[in-house]
Amino acid sequence: MKIITLGTSHGDPTASRYNSSTLLECNGAYYLLDAGAPVAASLIRRGIDISSLRGIFLTHMHEDHFGGLSGLLKHLTKYPPSSPVPVYLPEDAGEAFKSLLAVSHRPLSDEAATFKLLKKGLVYEDGNLTIEAIPTRHAENEGRNFPSFGFSIHSKSGKHYLHTGDLKHDFSDFPGEYCTPDTVCVCELTHYPWSCAEPVLKNIKLTRMIFSHIGNQWKSGTVFDLPYDNIIAEDGDEFKL
Ligand SMILES: [Zn+2]
Ligand SMILES: [Zn+2]
Repeated sequence: MKIITLGTSHGDPTASRYNSSTLLECNGAYYLLDAGAPVAASLIRRGIDISSLRGIFLTHMHEDHFGGLSGLLKHLTKYPPSSPVPVYLPEDAGEAFKSLLAVSHRPLSDEAATFKLLKKGLVYEDGNLTIEAIPTRHAENEGRNFPSFGFSIHSKSGKHYLHTGDLKHDFSDFPGEYCTPDTVCVCELTHYPWSCAEPVLKNIKLTRMIFSHIGNQWKSGTVFDLPYDNIIAEDGDEFKL
């Protein structure tokens, strides 16, 4: 299993960071978590065949997490996969993406992708891994109530990857109950003060914490005083589990 942080920025792209997307490789198969721009180009530059994606999973409907999805859908329509790629959305927004492709004069084909609605619990399973969606409360940062999710991913060979997605400003929705000493976690590092996160993070056990979705206040290379290996990810970093 391998995690590749394609885009590690916070809500805006920066001079060195693209918007959020993380690629997961498991037994030669690829899964995409969030689709911030310019994810199609990032995949092509790495030699990843977009039509081979097993699934696309969006944590929440903020533009920095879905802005590259129309490019992926266009590519899948132009170069159809052997079976439609499932696109898991946290909200019922499939028609909006279909409209976007229609105005670009390349309507989404049925062979390209199918939209599925995320809900709490096991949402995906194949011969390689299982993906469980964990509700978070990111929207409360804006006084809103739209759904957001993290993902708990178990490979059939026993590896565990926890992906938090964006969180609430008080860090109270960090899914610590999913952490085990064997877990590798990708956690966002933008939407809360460190004073809220530190006591929570010091009391969990992990193999490694990879911080992504990096706010401007953080310097690359910072290592936190936590009881496990931790790193601030850069675009294009690869982490073996
Ligand atoms: Zn975000
Ligand atoms: Zn967000």
